[in-house]
Amino acid sequence: MAPVFSFRVLHRDGSARSGEMTTAHGVVQTPAFMPVGTQGAVKGVTSRDLLDAGAEIILGNTYHLWLRPGDQRIARLGGLHRFMGWDRPILTDSGGFQAFSLGGQRAITEAGIRFRSHLDGSEHLLTPEGATDIQAGLGPDIAMVLDECLAQPAPVGEVRASTERSARWARRCRDRFLQLGGPAPLRHAAAADPGTTVTVTNARQAQFGIIQGGTVPELRALSADRTLAIGFEAYAIGGLSVGEPPETMYSVVEYTAPLLPADRPRYLMGVGTPLDIVEAVSRGIDLFDCVMPTRNARNGQVFTSEGRLTIKNAKYADDAGPLDPACTCYTCRTYSRAYLRHLFVAGEITASVLNTVHNLRFYLDTMARVRQAIVFGTLETLKRSLRATYSRPLSDS
Ligand SMILES: [Zn+2]
Repeated sequence: MAPVFSFRVLHRDGSARSGEMTTAHGVVQTPAFMPVGTQGAVKGVTSRDLLDAGAEIILGNTYHLWLRPGDQRIARLGGLHRFMGWDRPILTDSGGFQAFSLGGQRAITEAGIRFRSHLDGSEHLLTPEGATDIQAGLGPDIAMVLDECLAQPAPVGEVRASTERSARWARRCRDRFLQLGGPAPLRHAAAADPGTTVTVTNARQAQFGIIQGGTVPELRALSADRTLAIGFEAYAIGGLSVGEPPETMYSVVEYTAPLLPADRPRYLMGVGTPLDIVEAVSRGIDLFDCVMPTRNARNGQVFTSEGRLTIKNAKYADDAGPLDPACTCYTCRTYSRAYLRHLFVAGEITASVLNTVHNLRFYLDTMARVRQAIVFGTLETLKRSLRATYSRPLSDS
């Protein structure tokens, strides 16, 4: 039987790597960007649009799917791939980040995160075991451990306590994951949540650990030590892109990435702008996710080869050109800036759809250029050009 999960580095350029990550639902070329499918849908687009844009893997949000329509319902319907009509790789987060950011009256104890649902106010407890069970039911190819997302900045003592708790939670997640493991394609087990069962819909699921530790090098090293000692298929760097300056994030990535095994993919959670992504790739990161291309598209902000563009601006009212002359997406092939501005100003739902189609293509094309640059040893040149385009303020705001 093929291994559950594997990774091969094919080319290097400085600390950057390009390679192939193999999962139960296929191969992902890395460095890769994962569009975010919050509630079992990447907002504004269909699975067909995602394939057209070149997406090879997407991210699903455990918190949202757990509360609605429910992980057990999705498991009964065959798992998340079948439910949302996407048969390529999926990674799900643990639900912790949304429980912190969306949940009401939240409290963190050793047991887990207690919070009230943002939908109906009902009370829930998300435990490490529960987060593992929910993801077993959803059946992504990659599941994430539950970690504590500490609000930053925080005193070092608090960061240390939180980092140590995340490591204990990671151990509980792994124990539960191994307890559920086995060769049968569909298995049932007693769930961590009493009175329910868990259905494993993807028996070839991999599980990633998460390195925490804020912006304290010593705590990042401690977290890496503890998390690597547990042993996961691969590792992520968490707790960044939460409002710290970009230079701080780059610095944390620079000293944390080398602590992670060179033969496993490294995932930087929740990052970022095109420039952030390339900066992180050059420091050894392989996987990214971010709501920026989809959320900004709905707000009328478009990423182009010439920088960011705000489509509602009056100067586009008579502009017959495409959003991005360098782009071959459906939106750029078919519509003018004038038409897209009109749709946006008129509040047409199609504006969100077409802007999202373009922004996703821009992000995924950028990743393809990054991979190619690594092969040819020209990542520095690409980085300089993106820096020139994306570090200046909005050209037209
Ligand atoms: Zn386009």
